[in-house]
Amino acid sequence: MSTLRMNQKYYFRIYIQAKKKNKNKPKMSEYWKSNPRKFCDFCKCWISDNKPSIEFHERGKRHKENVQNRINEVRKSSEKKAKEKAEFDDDIAAMEKAALAAFRKDLESNPALADHYKAKAIAAKEEQEKLEAQKNKKRKNEVLEEKFERQETVEDSGTWYEAISPEGYPYYWNSLTNEPVWTAPEKYISLAEQERLQNGEVEEEPDPEVTGARNIPLPDEEEAPPPVEPEPTPQIPLPPRKDPKSSRSVFGGWETVSVTELPPPPEDLLVEDIPLPEPDREQKPPKQKFREKTVTSLNSNPGEVVSFKKRKVRSGARNARQRDTDD
Ligand SMILES: [Zn+2]
Repeated sequence: MSTLRMNQKYYFRIYIQAKKKNKNKPKMSEYWKSNPRKFCDFCKCWISDNKPSIEFHERGKRHKENVQNRINEVRKSSEKKAKEKAEFDDDIAAMEKAALAAFRKDLESNPALADHYKAKAIAAKEEQEKLEAQKNKKRKNEVLEEKFERQETVEDSGTWYEAISPEGYPYYWNSLTNEPVWTAPEKYISLAEQERLQNGEVEEEPDPEVTGARNIPLPDEEEAPPPVEPEPTPQIPLPPRKDPKSSRSVFGGWETVSVTELPPPPEDLLVEDIPLPEPDREQKPPKQKFREKTVTSLNSNPGEVVSFKKRKVRSGARNARQRDTDD
């Protein structure tokens, strides 16, 4: 076979292949725009990237299960990591401790080594301890300051005391604002506690000025005892309110009612008392009379029995209620 013929054959084959390819290729009119698709990472599947289908997919049971599984996996792995880190830290701490112990042992057994290291080691150690102590102190002070600040805001709102109203109902009043409320506040000093405080420390009634001076953080004081109110006698009437707007009572606030006497009316307006006519008690209301009425339209002929006439249905006419059997 000549090379020319081979080339011909070759090109012919390429031509046929191209034609076949074009035949399989859809015509322009057959093109359709493929919808964009979205990959669900939880389910490892493709879904149409439009709102309803995404929502439908995400509402599905399978997707929810897959999401929950993923969350569990993540949580488990993070827990595992945290555990591993804690174990690692423990190991490091143990190693450091062991190394320190070994070093101490070496120092004890070898005085020369101790001489060589001691001064340096102790100085470094002391330095470090000092630094640590300072840091701790600072942190503690910060915590305490924060605590006291919080406490101050609480104390700023005054102390609530339980008391009994003249009617015998318990109420609560504020030592700072004198505000009385019926509902129990979150924190208050009950009557029993007040009695105990009075019996126990009658002599030691702290001055409000003194309680205000407790801003210096005391290292071991966890919670300051509430100030003892001088005379929380139960039978006193409700103390007057200072601020009518601030009220924690569900029954509303207290208002000071002032009785002002009206000025006398002018002389010319004074009219002599005109006696009102005496009501006539003997007079009885007129008796209602009812008349009897006979309806005659239904039964014009006395003696004839009233009956309903049956409607005549023509054989051809179709009753609306009749069953239609035509179709
Ligand atoms: Zn999914």
